[in-house]
Amino acid sequence: MNAELCLKKLQYVGVLAFATVDEYGNPQIRNISAIHYEPDSMYFFTARGKNFCKELLENGRVQVLGYTKYKEMIRLSSKAEPVADEEQKKWIDTIFREQPYLDNLYPGDTRNIGIVFKIRNAEIEYFNLGVNPIFRESYSIGDVHITKKGYSITDKCIGCGKCVENCPQHCIEKEKPFKIQQEHCLHCGNCLNVCPVSAVKKIN
Ligand code: SF4
Ligand code: SF4
Repeated sequence: MNAELCLKKLQYVGVLAFATVDEYGNPQIRNISAIHYEPDSMYFFTARGKNFCKELLENGRVQVLGYTKYKEMIRLSSKAEPVADEEQKKWIDTIFREQPYLDNLYPGDTRNIGIVFKIRNAEIEYFNLGVNPIFRESYSIGDVHITKKGYSITDKCIGCGKCVENCPQHCIEKEKPFKIQQEHCLHCGNCLNVCPVSAVKKIN
């Protein structure tokens, strides 16, 4: 798995959820399929009058989520940016050519009320719940830092084995100290919950 394959899988999913935060701090999610994919970026269309557009123009922060029929969750965290004015028409026409249903929504020149945003820097989380043990990994496109998440075991570990017994994915190795296989971890927190000496810490 890699970032390019994640983008291909999102293209296969077709309709993605785009989340922003509105001016009152409330989450706002909408489904979008007016998307063009490149191997290392994606372009999407919305209308300039929509709150979605306003929220994106304010700070660009957006999360994009797709879920495949094979139980794969793919999430992009990014800052979208509007395509340059002189390139807007090219990308609007590209997206309308690839998604003919858009002509039904915006016939003729009414498509020009649209605006195309580009996602070229993003952190990508891939999470496959359809395999055993589960598999997760993070990738990036463009210039972004990958945020580490989950749990880790510190030197305080006394090797009692309670975390191993209670881990639903059996992804803790009996080393010194015990070690979590991060790519198979659910981030459920059960190991932290049962550890008698607080040797497990949450990664932030
Ligand atoms: S429960 Fe805590 S002390 Fe026991 S093996 Fe796991 S991490 Fe180590
Ligand atoms: S967070 Fe959950 S899945 Fe991950 S190691 Fe701890 S118990 Fe196992």
